[in-house]
Amino acid sequence: MKENNQLLQVDEVKITILMDNTIDAFMTGNEIVHRFNMSKAPLTTKDGFSTLIAEHGFSAIIQIKCGERQETILLDTGVSSNGILHNIDTLGINVNDIKAIVLSHGHIDHTMGLPSLIEKLDSSQVPIIFHPDAFLDRKLIMPGGYEVDVSAPKLNVLQQKKIDLVAKADPTLLVDNMVLVSGEIARTTDFETGFPVHYTKRDGRWENDPLVKDDQCVIINVRGKGLVVITGCCHSGLINTINYAQKLTNCQQVYAVLGGFHLTGGTFEKIIPITIDELKKSGQPI
Ligand SMILES: [Zn+2]
Ligand SMILES: [Zn+2]
Repeated sequence: MKENNQLLQVDEVKITILMDNTIDAFMTGNEIVHRFNMSKAPLTTKDGFSTLIAEHGFSAIIQIKCGERQETILLDTGVSSNGILHNIDTLGINVNDIKAIVLSHGHIDHTMGLPSLIEKLDSSQVPIIFHPDAFLDRKLIMPGGYEVDVSAPKLNVLQQKKIDLVAKADPTLLVDNMVLVSGEIARTTDFETGFPVHYTKRDGRWENDPLVKDDQCVIINVRGKGLVVITGCCHSGLINTINYAQKLTNCQQVYAVLGGFHLTGGTFEKIIPITIDELKKSGQPI
């Protein structure tokens, strides 16, 4: 890992969604999007479980190719203790190919698969990159008044010799400068104001924390195409995230943006039109 932002242009990136909120087993693919091949595996296993499962949360394997080099990193780990491991097995992915783990932010639906994943890793030291706020206690106070604990697993559960916990708010280059982790994303638009029901515990006191400052994205620059930006929850806002990725890399061309956008529900649906307008203005494909 280096401290500067000299992100390399790579030849190819392949992103495998390990976990998402829903799954449609019969969706068809095309030359860019490849679906899980149902002819190679039944829809359910003998014990009745789905071959691939969905759950509230996100996780993606990112494979990057540059010349002879091919590296794999993992972004986020879903909400259940073994959901991503189930899908990793089904997809035939070797967890020990993972060279680094990035946490988009410290919410339960992106981090709870981490302890069981670490168990599966062999003894080589894998860095886990996250913002210093990510392991603070978090909760939501919903409009009905009830509270939901959305904290990540406790940090002491993760402290093992085979992983290297890297807490930083600045950008981080990974796998020989082929991947850039944004670090804390600058909030520059006036309509992306965060998650109003979100609270963080600092120094023993709960405080309203709509900005979720630990939110970060993964950026790859594909030669001849442009930036590929992968978000976890995108609490920073989609346009803030894209703007910041462009600023960090000095590259305006955006080829793809994917991941969680956090644009559902009454608070967020009203900013969908302006988000789409802003995307169109800059010619950025979704
Ligand atoms: Zn979140
Ligand atoms: Zn989320």
